[in-house]
Amino acid sequence: MLRCYNYDIVASEIPDEITLALNITGCPIHCEGCHSQWLWDAEAGEPLTDDTLLAIIDQYGFGITCVAFMGGDNDPAEIARLAEVVKAQWPEMRLGWYSGRDRLPDSFPATRFNYIKLGPYIARLGGLDKPTTNQRLYRIGPDGTMTHLPMYKQH
Ligand code: SF4
Repeated sequence: MLRCYNYDIVASEIPDEITLALNITGCPIHCEGCHSQWLWDAEAGEPLTDDTLLAIIDQYGFGITCVAFMGGDNDPAEIARLAEVVKAQWPEMRLGWYSGRDRLPDSFPATRFNYIKLGPYIARLGGLDKPTTNQRLYRIGPDGTMTHLPMYKQH
């Protein structure tokens, strides 16, 4: 079972969405320079059951437009299953997954999500807000098409 360290409402992680971002523990990617190393511990946080997840979402209801799982590379199938649980209860809710992988796992049901971020954090390239970043945020079309959404703003 996946565990959730904490969660927050954020406006910057996914463009044009008010996102409930759930920080999932047990990250197996271990990027050098990771700013969230407390998320490496698979025993940290509280179990993210279906009921727990839906209760968190219920706190915000229509005040959020998107639920994003930040991490969960230790069990992508469970992330995909939880996405289905959210969709069954909140059909209009957009769904996101922030993965540290370079590519999607084989047979991953990407169309359950509206947004997927791929790529580990590489300090010299910077995060999603840097034009040099290796990380990519994609909008997922109903047919599985992945459209890159550049996150950085040029000044
Ligand atoms: S994927 Fe994210 S949480 Fe995991 S090691 Fe990389 S930066 Fe840290």
